[in-house]
Amino acid sequence: MKIGIPRGLYFYVYYPLWYGFFTSLGHDVILSMPTNKEILNTGVSSAVDDICISVKVYHGHVKHLLGKKDVDHVFVPRIVSEDKYKYTCPKLAAMPDLIKSAFRKNEKKLLSVVMYMNQGKKALHEAFSEVGKKIGENDDRKIKKALKAGIELQDKATMCLRKEHNFLEVVSSIQNLDSLLEKPVKKERYTVALAGFPYDVYDGYMNGDVIKRLQDTNMRVVVTDMLEPKLYKHYTKYMIKDLFWHQANVAAKGGMYYMDSKDIDGVITISSFNCGISAVYEKLLDLYSKETGKPLMHIVVDEQTGDAGLVTRIEAFLDLIRVKRGDGLVAS
Ligand code: SF4
Repeated sequence: MKIGIPRGLYFYVYYPLWYGFFTSLGHDVILSMPTNKEILNTGVSSAVDDICISVKVYHGHVKHLLGKKDVDHVFVPRIVSEDKYKYTCPKLAAMPDLIKSAFRKNEKKLLSVVMYMNQGKKALHEAFSEVGKKIGENDDRKIKKALKAGIELQDKATMCLRKEHNFLEVVSSIQNLDSLLEKPVKKERYTVALAGFPYDVYDGYMNGDVIKRLQDTNMRVVVTDMLEPKLYKHYTKYMIKDLFWHQANVAAKGGMYYMDSKDIDGVITISSFNCGISAVYEKLLDLYSKETGKPLMHIVVDEQTGDAGLVTRIEAFLDLIRVKRGDGLVAS
């Protein structure tokens, strides 16, 4: 069987788990193509108007896979929580319903399941058993083995992130994460940290290829998903209490951790237009940047794909961090 996985939203967090599970059961995993104009336009015209651009883009990826004759199912999980008392955004928790109402004709091709990522292996086993049954796999031993393979791959992917290999590298090396683990990471004179939801940070088409642009100017780029949570958990005290949404906590507290890190020259947040949750962590980082004096820039991803303004802003930001290090402007 061929299982389609849309290249959007929680793909940028749990792809190794899903890939490991489906391939271990003997299925092929088909990814939608990286976001492009066609995916964006399809998503914008398929989704409800007032939703964030990240969800609209996700609709475009789902539609792309639904249109492929050789794809048997498109995997659209409902991820509800990732940490104790921390939940995903309501739009993410409602994702299968949004997708079903957008693509009613193809409803039967959608493969959905409720997932609580923080409730241990038993809850995951129940969720993946349900997925297995929907694709005709009732052998519990096989499900357990496939889930084990998925968890091992996810753990390995986390190790790669901790070693500062970003998630895009994880995706392209999914069949050989051991070699990625061995690969050294290039050190550079300057380091820029990116804070935000993984799908906003890693979708290069939507964010004007920020990672590549920075790397092309010899910047080392780190992302908040590379951090071990224990490194930033104490930043809750600057927020009075944790935020309700897991990924917003990662962006806020991870961003603060980077602002306090001597080897980080500046922090850039990347968020989606029409996302209220991002506005909360961005404000927290604004306040913390004032305290620490660490340069901070916000990039908001929207439907405008022109990048001239973005290039100028990135150049100005890089000039700022060079000046702060006493190196002068690029032009000079
Ligand atoms: S958290 Fe923001 S960007 Fe993510 S799905 Fe919700 S509204 Fe969209």
